[in-house]
Amino acid sequence: MTVTTTARVRAALSAQPRLPLAELPTPIHDAVRLREALGGPARCPRILIKRDDLTALGLGGNKARKLEYLVADAKAQGATTLITTGAVQSNHARMTAAAAAVAGMRCVLVLTAATDHPELAGNLLLDRLFGAGVRLVPAIDPMLAVGQDEAIVAAVVAEEEAAGRVPYVIPVGGSSGVGVLGYVSGTAELVEQLAEMGVSPARLYYASGSRGTQAGLTLGAKLCGASYQLAGIAVSAGEPEKIERARRIANEAAARLRLPERLDLPDLITDQSFIGDGYGIPTTGGREAIALLARTEAILLDPCYTSKGMAALIAHVRGGEVSPADTVMFLHTGGIPALFTSSFAGTIEPA
Ligand SMILES: *Cc1c(COP(=O)(O)O)cnc(C)c1O
Repeated sequence: MTVTTTARVRAALSAQPRLPLAELPTPIHDAVRLREALGGPARCPRILIKRDDLTALGLGGNKARKLEYLVADAKAQGATTLITTGAVQSNHARMTAAAAAVAGMRCVLVLTAATDHPELAGNLLLDRLFGAGVRLVPAIDPMLAVGQDEAIVAAVVAEEEAAGRVPYVIPVGGSSGVGVLGYVSGTAELVEQLAEMGVSPARLYYASGSRGTQAGLTLGAKLCGASYQLAGIAVSAGEPEKIERARRIANEAAARLRLPERLDLPDLITDQSFIGDGYGIPTTGGREAIALLARTEAILLDPCYTSKGMAALIAHVRGGEVSPADTVMFLHTGGIPALFTSSFAGTIEPA
């Protein structure tokens, strides 16, 4: 049954333009030492980590899967310049800059920062190395990932057009109907790997921001008949608007694929209880998760997204919300460059 359903999804995806940018399939890691540290098999389920931090493009992460479809769509439209938005330490912006380098395109990033002179470190340093232009926008609300960037984006579009170039604007996080295809495809990959391994996880934990990953994972799980329930852990506020966005882009992706399935709002709820003080602000549970993963598995989590997702998984194990008899998956979506910023370094304590 699983093979039949992924075959149908794979056939539908193969009709969509795609530029290979990521190293796929990504491996699945059995986190036995983490499980031991959380009480062993008597207390903790088996934890499998899908290593989408290892997609390779420009230091890797989940955005590589979206960008395969987004950059192909941009090229199909004759675009020469990729424009996108995000926070100053946006992984999506960094990976868009990397994708533009590979695709031979220009890239302009409109980034929200709390100061006029953000530290040239982490993702922002890599944006420069990949050759992207950067425009800064002041931050407005620490709970949200971005500021009022529409006017600057419009100005950049106008400048590019005036110079005879063709801009393609990628929405924040790459979360459009086209970008969603990345995690529909990623789900087919995962479901096939799990079938091969003969495991049926009960849950899949992942960190949720702009919702493109959620839309792709949720649509993909429905299309592929996945065994697991999705456990989306929000890292920024903005519901219920973001649930509405997830539904819109998921259903746009389903329409592009010419498949009949559609998502509804109840499919798209996330857990808001691990955001802490705001987007990109480390939490105690998140810092503990970073140290635990580093010291048991030598796997690096990031301060903004994956640490909060893993903090939720750990809290649920400790609280007995997941049965030790089950298997749970964690989708590692990347984000490592933000570890190398002074704002994170200042928050860690010695062992
Ligand atoms: C962007 C990002 C996410 C969230 O993905 P969305 O599609 O924006 O919800 C999670 N983890 C990392 C490391 C990211 O960069």
